[in-house]
Amino acid sequence: MTARLHVDLAALTANLDRVRETVAPAELMLVVKDDAYGHGLEPVVRTAAAAGVNWFGAFDTRTGAAVRAVLGKGPRIFAWIAASRHDLDTAIAADLDLGIGDADLLEELADAAHAARATVRVHLKIDTGLHRNGVRPEAWPAFVRRAAELQTQGAIDVVGVWSHIAEASDDEDDDARAVYEWALGEAAAAGIPPSVRHLAASAASFARPEFRYDLVRVGAFCYGIRSSGGPSAGELGLRPIARLEADVTAVHHENVEVGIGALHGLPTSLGGGRVRVGTSEGGRHLELVGETHSLVERWPGAAVGDTVTVFGPGVRGEGSSTDLAELIGTIGEEIAVRVSPLVPRAYES
Ligand SMILES: *Cc1c(COP(=O)(O)O)cnc(C)c1O
Repeated sequence: MTARLHVDLAALTANLDRVRETVAPAELMLVVKDDAYGHGLEPVVRTAAAAGVNWFGAFDTRTGAAVRAVLGKGPRIFAWIAASRHDLDTAIAADLDLGIGDADLLEELADAAHAARATVRVHLKIDTGLHRNGVRPEAWPAFVRRAAELQTQGAIDVVGVWSHIAEASDDEDDDARAVYEWALGEAAAAGIPPSVRHLAASAASFARPEFRYDLVRVGAFCYGIRSSGGPSAGELGLRPIARLEADVTAVHHENVEVGIGALHGLPTSLGGGRVRVGTSEGGRHLELVGETHSLVERWPGAAVGDTVTVFGPGVRGEGSSTDLAELIGTIGEEIAVRVSPLVPRAYES
């Protein structure tokens, strides 16, 4: 294997600036789930914190605790997947903000908070249509009343009300936002108006100003990964921060062999000549993805040790991770996250 993933931390900082300037006065929460979308949690959160990012979106509590261990006291770290008492204890110990979208889990959290003599910052989640762990509208009024009681008892501090939207059609998102607005009203009526309202991820944070509220939870765009079917990274003012490379290991008549394959996270469906990878002579077709090696259309002067770019910012004729993803019916994040931990990450700043 001759592959490595180059991660340009200066480009990350530039993207963070671009996202923040776009969404202001809303704040940015940098989403760092899945090892910061495959770019490496620790260097990413260190770079973002140095750039002044104050909110991190961790997905699970273990990742949240890992971010806290790297950054120490100060930054707000939001985790929204807690499945067990152990997860809740982890969140409390790491001083996380917790997303809660389930009435039973709220009770369990109150118990855990009492036991730890802690007051936990909570963001209540309304299900606005995605049916992914949120409280259904019919159960919401009772849920916020109960949260208000638990706040009075000192177990929780309701700081946020949030939801997640599909960002697939404007009409559906508008319907989701109407439910969200109603949920905010109910929270206020229960005496717990949230100070941190958040609804949008990458696409809506750029395209739909009315979805920004106080905070946007952005992953993909910060890493320079555009949405499928959406504007290009350049049009968004963003740059892909990662470049997946591998070296030529053999030169044949018609093609060259490069030291990266399915074992390193490349979907075999990228073979067949639909994708162009970057070379010193520009884009060349990726003919076949094997287990440990792949075949690329030969270019003049190709030699063992030359570098091929599988995906990246496009300067050598390669596509972005989203360009690749579109050809096999997935999303750019998926391509980035699939790059195996076997592939070393190399950081540039
Ligand atoms: C992954 C995730 C995000 C970030 O989505 P992007 O499209 O990558 O910006 C935001 N919110 C939640 C709940 C998520 O799971």
